[in-house]
Amino acid sequence: MDAIQMTIDGKQVTGKKGQTILEVALDNNIDIPYLCYHPRISKTGACRICMVRVNEAALKTSCTEPASNGMIIDTDDDEIRELRRSILGMLLAEGDHNCLYCESNGECELQRLCNRYEVPMPAGDMPTRQRAVDTVSSKGLRRNENRCILCGRCVKACGEIQMNSVWNFTGRGSSTALTSDMFAQLGDSSCVMCGACVQCCPTGALSFQTVLGRGQAWELKKETSVCIYCGVGCQIDFYTNKEGKLVKALGNADGPNEGHLCVKGRFGFDFVQSGKRLTKPLIKKNGAFEEASWDEALDLVASRLSDIKSKSGPDSIMAFSSAKCTNEENYLMQKFMRAVIGTNNVDHCARL
Ligand code: SF4
Ligand code: SF4
Ligand code: SF4
Repeated sequence: MDAIQMTIDGKQVTGKKGQTILEVALDNNIDIPYLCYHPRISKTGACRICMVRVNEAALKTSCTEPASNGMIIDTDDDEIRELRRSILGMLLAEGDHNCLYCESNGECELQRLCNRYEVPMPAGDMPTRQRAVDTVSSKGLRRNENRCILCGRCVKACGEIQMNSVWNFTGRGSSTALTSDMFAQLGDSSCVMCGACVQCCPTGALSFQTVLGRGQAWELKKETSVCIYCGVGCQIDFYTNKEGKLVKALGNADGPNEGHLCVKGRFGFDFVQSGKRLTKPLIKKNGAFEEASWDEALDLVASRLSDIKSKSGPDSIMAFSSAKCTNEENYLMQKFMRAVIGTNNVDHCARL
């Protein structure tokens, strides 16, 4: 590693060759605000909120400017604050931002920065964008273009993480707009509902269908777990509301999935709270299923397996295991079949 020594806000810090000023600052717990930057996508340099003063002279976007030895960086002064305030003011004025009705209220990065820099709401007669809101065409995603700040994170999340390129920009200047598959409705586009764009969106322009009406951001409790669907073992941050109901799944950046999920991990959690879910064993008696205790059910399975083994031999029994179980459970299943039943007839759904 080629180390870089530089000074940020009077503090001596160390970075790595190839890093930007912003990356060095973040690694050293120095707070520079940003909106278009995201650690999981390539550099953009669009929002210009991350502007810093380099070598006591020029202002540069810290998310794109390479860090170099001996640099002196100031992340905050009167001019920088005024610049950030005016950019945030323009973003607010261009869109239609009523946080009371927004799915991102309480976790929106634009809202947080407007609060931090004390940006006033634009005057009532300012022109605001009035575009169609698409909250129904996709089963998983909601879209409100009037809250979009054209940061481009969704474009890159879809193109670089999911490799799908659903999103893109059309138009120029004040007519610039985000479009899915060149003007298709989201539900009719090639979107595979991985949710990466929603997870990266800094505002309420994109949100999940599962969140609305089920609790606001600050009420949700986070628990990290492992996806139950396949052997990749993606780590997921599940969010539950005050009633204990699951409302949202976000990819955990520290897992093997590096924050990404597929449609199953992202949305396939409703069964957990389904009223139709089996919670007690059922035994078929006289052609109909009846509820039974676990002892009764396990005794029945053990006696039937013993009967079949003694009458027809161990190879008349097979076990089929599941990717939804843990490695340890799958290990126990094959051990049980080989050591207790005495057969190698063991298989797993991954070979389907
Ligand atoms: S996107 Fe952010 S600033 Fe805009 S309405 Fe939603 S919470 Fe408020
Ligand atoms: S959900 Fe995934 S596939 Fe669909 S637009 Fe977003 S990033 Fe692209
Ligand atoms: S939808 Fe969100 S992520 Fe995409 S450009 Fe707009 S604000 Fe940025």
